[in-house]
Parts: sequence; structure tokens; C-alpha cells
Amino acid sequence: QNGACKTVLAGSIAKNLIVEVQEGLKTVDRKPRLHGFLANKDPAARMYADWTAKTCRENGFDFTLREVDREDLEDEIRHANNDNDVDGMIVYYPVFDSTRDRTLQWTVSMYKDVEGLSPQLISNMYQNIRFLDPPTNLKKSILPCTPLAVVKILEHLRIYNTFLDYGKRLFGRRITVINRSEVVGRPLAALLANDGAEVYSVDVTGVQHFSRGTGLRKQKHEVRDMEGWGLEQCLPISEVVISGVPGEKYKVPTESIREGAVCINFSSEKNFNPDVKEKASIYVPAIGKVTIVILLRNLLRVVQNRPQEPTK
Ligand code: NAD
Repeated sequence: QNGACKTVLAGSIAKNLIVEVQEGLKTVDRKPRLHGFLANKDPAARMYADWTAKTCRENGFDFTLREVDREDLEDEIRHANNDNDVDGMIVYYPVFDSTRDRTLQWTVSMYKDVEGLSPQLISNMYQNIRFLDPPTNLKKSILPCTPLAVVKILEHLRIYNTFLDYGKRLFGRRITVINRSEVVGRPLAALLANDGAEVYSVDVTGVQHFSRGTGLRKQKHEVRDMEGWGLEQCLPISEVVISGVPGEKYKVPTESIREGAVCINFSSEKNFNPDVKEKASIYVPAIGKVTIVILLRNLLRVVQNRPQEPTK
């Protein structure tokens, strides 16, 4: 019983990614330096900051936690934008309300944004523009950490078919994503669809379909509302189910999940019932450890993308 399902822990996936990051680190001439700006009293934010500090230290990155008054934060970010000693920045949100926090996100230079929240980076992601320097295409655009962590997990699990060309490796896959927040669910659905998947994006209001259409003819995904659809329609046809609903009450209905599906939970709560293992072929119960390595990977990329400084 439960014999066929493999449970895969984020730590084991993170290990492989760390090896890749360590290799990349050898190609840069100094320890990349990350500044974390903490301007709220949220214990979860502090925990994440401490965890970032530890992961940085263990892996040859330099991390400084800057605890600042939130009214000074915008100036502090501007200062860090111009400080050559700072390679990358992360701000622990929420600081104010979502509108004012967006102003902060826009203040971070896109060349130092390891979270991938700058307007140009977000726009590149939705438009399926992968490089910052066309047509040379040496500098990859930075993607948001949690959605990219899910992509890396799907690569690890061979859901990405490497026989296919880059950018089309999810062709033929049907994936349900439960969560359509601006920070995780919507960008994730877009990324997966841009890579060729048919994505059913589910939130409290209903279902949307993200796809590049027949034969992936469209250059980027398009979105349409799926009137009358719910999880009962999406789950039986999805080879992959990714869930990130906050709150401990929410559970994905196991009975609708397709036999042999790959189930991934990114919520801080357990969105899948224990009996998911009787249906799934692979179950990933949490992803946080991968997300934090992606942060370092983004920092490394930001250093590699850095515009050449004029010689003094
Ligand atoms: P959010 O509150 O902004 O978004 C929640 C989403 O879930 C919304 O799209 C909402 O419509 C949807 N939802 C809520 N109830 C639903 C229901 N019954 N059926 C279908 N959809 C429903 O939250 P968020 O910032 O996206 O974070 C979601 C979760 O992911 C949290 O638990 C958070 O801790 C976690 N998270 C994890 C990581 C990580 O790296 N592991 C990173 C960021 C967030």
C-alpha cells in the first residue's frame, strides 16, 4: 500500500541546484553581496531573512540584513541602487499596503532585483521575452523566485521533456495551478504556458486557461475564462497539480486527481490530504528550500548580467 508514490523532498532537489550555483560562483571574481531590507515587524519575514542569511553564508555569498524605518526605505533602496558594493537586493514585504509596496518594487533597479519584481522583468516574463540583451542573448531576464522554483522542480522530475527544444519542453502537458496571486500563481501559470503547457489556473473566482494554442503557434500564452469549470473538470485531465492555497482548511479533493499525477504543494499549509499518495506518482510536500536556492541563483545571474563599469 502507498507503494507506487514517490515523495520527493525539496532539500534533495535544492542540493542539485546548489551544485550548479557553486559552479557559477567560480566564474565571478568576488563574493556576490546581497542586502536584505527589513522594515516590518512580521516574524515570518524575519525568519525568512535569517534563513536567507544562513543559506548565503553556507554557500559563499555575502548577506547583510538592513533593518530600517519604513519611511526611510525608499531612500535606502535608491542609495543601494547606486552603491557598487551592493550586487542585489531583497525587500521583505509587506511594508505598507499593496499600492505603496508596488512603488517600492519599482524603485529597486532591475539590475539589482533578485526577486524579479521590477516592471521590465515582469513584463518580459508575461511576454515570453527571455533575454535582456537581444539579439546577443547572453543576459537572461530574472524570473520571480517561487514560480521559478516550481519550474526547476518540474525539470528535476523530468516533466520538462529535454528531447524537445528549449522553450517548448512542456508541450503536451496539462497542468492545474491552484492559486492565481500576482506573486506566485499567475506568473507561474504564464511561465508554464510559455514553455508549452496547457495550464488550468484556478482561484476563488473560477478557472482560466493559459495556452500558446494549437502547435504552440503563438509566441506567448493567451488567457481565456473557462465558464462553468471547476476543479472537477481540471483535475482528471491534469498530469501535474500544483497547489498554493493559504489556510489549513483547504484540501485538494483526492478523488478528482488523475491516477499517477504529479502533486506539488507550495502553500505553507498542507493542501493535499495524506491519501494523495494513493493516487499520485510523485508528491512534493513543500518547496521552500528550493526557493531560497533560486534566490542565490538569481543573485549570481544579476552579478553576471551587470553592465560593464566604465574604467576609471
Ligand atoms: P494569496 O493570498 O495572495 O493568494 C491565494 C490564492 O489562492 C488566490 O489566488 C486565491 O484566489 C486562491 N484561493 C484561495 N482559496 C481558494 C480556494 N478555496 N480554491 C481555489 N483557490 C483559492 O497568497 P500567496 O502570496 O500567493 O501565497 C499562497 C501560499 O503560498 C501561502 O501559504 C504562502 O505562505 C505560500 N508561499 C510559499 C512560497 C514558497 O516558496 N514556498 C513563496 C510564496 C508564498
